[in-house]
Amino acid sequence: MTRAIVVVMALLFAAPVAGKCPKGTKRLQTNVRKGESLADVAGRVGVKAADLKAWNLLRKDEVPAGKNLAYCVKKASGSVGSPSHGKLVGGTSVDGDGDKAGAGFVIGAGRTRLFGTAQTVKHLKHCMAVYRAAYPDKRKAPPVNVGDLSAKDGGPAGPHLSHESGRDVDIGYLTKPPQSKGNFDRQATGAADLDVPKQWVVTKCFLDNPELKAIFIGSGVLGALKAYVGKVYRKRPAMKDKYLKALGRYAVPDGEHLTHMHVRFRCPKSDKHCVD
Ligand SMILES: [Zn+2]
Repeated sequence: MTRAIVVVMALLFAAPVAGKCPKGTKRLQTNVRKGESLADVAGRVGVKAADLKAWNLLRKDEVPAGKNLAYCVKKASGSVGSPSHGKLVGGTSVDGDGDKAGAGFVIGAGRTRLFGTAQTVKHLKHCMAVYRAAYPDKRKAPPVNVGDLSAKDGGPAGPHLSHESGRDVDIGYLTKPPQSKGNFDRQATGAADLDVPKQWVVTKCFLDNPELKAIFIGSGVLGALKAYVGKVYRKRPAMKDKYLKALGRYAVPDGEHLTHMHVRFRCPKSDKHCVD
C-alpha cells in the first residue's frame, strides 16, 4: 500500500489502548523526524494530532526526534478470495446516502447487499450514469433496477452461489414494460420482452470496461444483443467485429439469469488476496 493510500484511508478513532488498533484498522508506526511537532507528524501520516496523542498516551504536544509513534489506519478496501468463496474488507456501498437510488438506477427497498470494492461501485455507477446520459427523459427511460452486490463484509449470500467478494452485481434487464422499483419482477426475459437499445447501452458500457471479468446473461437476451450489434454497426464493420468479439468473450449464456444480468469485475491489482 502506498503512503498516499494510507493517508486517504486513515481513520480517526478515539483513544484505543496504546499499541492496539480498533477492528477494521491496522497499526502502523513512524519515527518523529527532526524538527517535527506532533501536529506535523499527524499531518504527515494523515491522522488527527489529538488521536496521535491519545494513541501514544502522550501528555505533551512536544515529541522528541526519533521517537517511535503508533497510529491506526483503516485497512484498504479489498476483495479477498473468489466470488464463490470469499469476503470483502472495507467495502463501499453503492447507496452511500441511503436513498436506494442514484443517477440512472434504483435499488429495491429490502436490499441490504449493497457493498462492493471501490472499483465495482465506481464502475457500476459509471454505467448507470452513462445510461441516464443516453436516455435523459425519465418518463421514457425509468431507472435501471440494481439488485444484489455483496454483504457488508462479503461472505455467503444465498441463494446466490457467488456475490461473496464484492465484485459481483445483478442488474435487471431493461424490458418492455420496464421492471420497477429495484425489483426483478418479470418472470423471464426473452428477446421479445427486451428493450434492446437500452439494454445495449448498459451492456456496452460494461464491455468497454477493461476491468470486466464476465457477464452472465440469458441466452435469449444475448441473442437479441448480438443481432442488434449486427444491425447498428452494419456500416462500421470494425465496431461490429469488436463488440461481437467482446460479447463472445465476456458474455456467458446462463439459464439462471432470465430476469437480470450478472456483471463480475476482475480482481483489483492492489488486492493481493483476491482470486479471479
Ligand atoms: Zn448474480
